[in-house]
Amino acid sequence: AKQGGRNGMRFFDQGMQDHINARADMERALRIAIDLHQFELHYQIQVDQHGRARGAEALVRWRADGKMMSPAQFVPLAEETGLILQLGSWVLEEACARLRAWQEDPGLRALTLAVNVSAAQFHQPGFCEQVRGAVARHAIDPRLLKLELTEGIVLKNVEVAVQSMAALRAMGVRISLDDFGTGYSSLQYLKRLPLSQLKIDQSFIRDLVNDRSDQAIVTTIIAMARSLGLDVIAEGVETPEQRALLQKLGCFHYQGYLYGRPVAVADFEQLVLGPPSA
Ligand code: C2E
Ligand code: CA
Ligand code: CA
Ligand code: CA
Repeated sequence: AKQGGRNGMRFFDQGMQDHINARADMERALRIAIDLHQFELHYQIQVDQHGRARGAEALVRWRADGKMMSPAQFVPLAEETGLILQLGSWVLEEACARLRAWQEDPGLRALTLAVNVSAAQFHQPGFCEQVRGAVARHAIDPRLLKLELTEGIVLKNVEVAVQSMAALRAMGVRISLDDFGTGYSSLQYLKRLPLSQLKIDQSFIRDLVNDRSDQAIVTTIIAMARSLGLDVIAEGVETPEQRALLQKLGCFHYQGYLYGRPVAVADFEQLVLGPPSA
């Protein structure tokens, strides 16, 4: 407990000190992991209304001492420490290498790959050039690469964001607005953004079948997408009932456990191609 001493340390209790130490340990471990490339991408399938695979979202995993850590456990720290810039570069490079590999397989070559981008990464000078470089190095069709941005990233600096997005779109790269509906989203500002897709946040899908206000929100998002000429995809689709309702409301692209969890690349490719023939 603090007793109002001059020594700032007295404001910390042991629990806080432990927390700080654990954080410092984790930051050190994260730095090493980045140097040693101890990350891998998992892939979650995205399908159309016929259930056909159209693409994937790449989701980063950290393999630490044999166990997988999910991004919720380290992406926020990577963002606070700036390490997200190096991690994000690795993710982009790895995703483009994957698209390159898929180009060689007739069953995989039409798949798009969506990559999550952090605010610091998107707003760093030279981000567009980094994307251009990765696309060129791996000789991929830029239209197959999708960058997932959140409204928060865009609202940080709308003028700069619009410019960067326009440059990316001019290259042919696609942009999806992730977690859509959770932020501030008026048609007024959306129409200024050079987007390809709105991604309906999973929080609206969870109770969609029973919750009338979620239905109203999803209906509105789909109408917004339509009036802006954008694709729309729903994430977090877990049941056939959710999928059926989404289709009825006019959403024809889906991602969620109903179709597949994020999995290692070999499992993802098998999911798309079917089991190897004997
Ligand atoms: P997100 O971009 O919104 O990704 C969707 C999250 O929902 C993923 O969690 C995914 O595994 C999970 N999910 C997918 N389908 C379902 C479903 O049907 N039901 C439920 N309950 N969940 C589902 P994950 O992989 O743990 O990633 C969490 C977040 O970490 C992502 O949220 C994204 O914000 C961030 N992230 C992941 N990979 C990267 C990356 O490479 N770079 C950056 N900057 N952020 C990343
Ligand atoms: Ca995402
Ligand atoms: Ca999302
Ligand atoms: Ca999210």
